[in-house]
Amino acid sequence: MSTLGASELLQVWERGQSLRAPERALLLLDATAPATSPGDLPVGQRDGQLLALRERLFGRGMVSIMACPGCGEKLELSLDTRQFTVSGDSPKELLLERGGFRIRFRVPIGADLVACAAESGVAAAERQLLRRCLLETSLHEHSIDADDLPEDLVEGLTQAMAEVDPGADLQVSATCPACECRWESTFDIVTFLWTELQDWAIRVLRDVHALASVYGWTEREVLELSPWRRRLYLQLVGR
Ligand SMILES: [Zn+2]
Repeated sequence: MSTLGASELLQVWERGQSLRAPERALLLLDATAPATSPGDLPVGQRDGQLLALRERLFGRGMVSIMACPGCGEKLELSLDTRQFTVSGDSPKELLLERGGFRIRFRVPIGADLVACAAESGVAAAERQLLRRCLLETSLHEHSIDADDLPEDLVEGLTQAMAEVDPGADLQVSATCPACECRWESTFDIVTFLWTELQDWAIRVLRDVHALASVYGWTEREVLELSPWRRRLYLQLVGR
């Protein structure tokens, strides 16, 4: 993975403005690891790469703000990019045989999430995601439609996918100091990293504005300053 300069990172942020979260995930990885094909990665591995990217861009320590489901108190949860299990290679193909059903399937990849993001409603997106991951569905050796799979079998498929690609569902646990309520919730690295990038971009563009206004420098000239030099100039202009 290469490290992006401020100018390239701003371009990534700008290009991602009109995109949905799964597309932003691939945009970030495409820009920083152009040799790989992030859309083909299982979602857990994609997220593992995003955690590694976050570490390179902003460091290991992360602070996630969440509301206690018990009393509504806002909590700051300290996290570390390395606390999450990052899965290794998951099998290309899986098989589930039960009660005469035979299902060959694979785990969801980044490109699946992009394709399903346009669906309206969670249920429709989940159905399409499942369809994309099914390679063969049959009952007593006769091919059947995905919609004809019983609910418990679909749950079995989802569970098997989660087991071989555990990084696809990052979990954090928290305890509320106010009411001692304990809970687990999903940590969404795509949204988290994009929000950080957004905050960073706004800060940098404010710096550009401050220095360009005083010194008449171009955006490029300001961005080419090292962070230390930029900070010193900002102090000199009273920012
Ligand atoms: Zn609470």
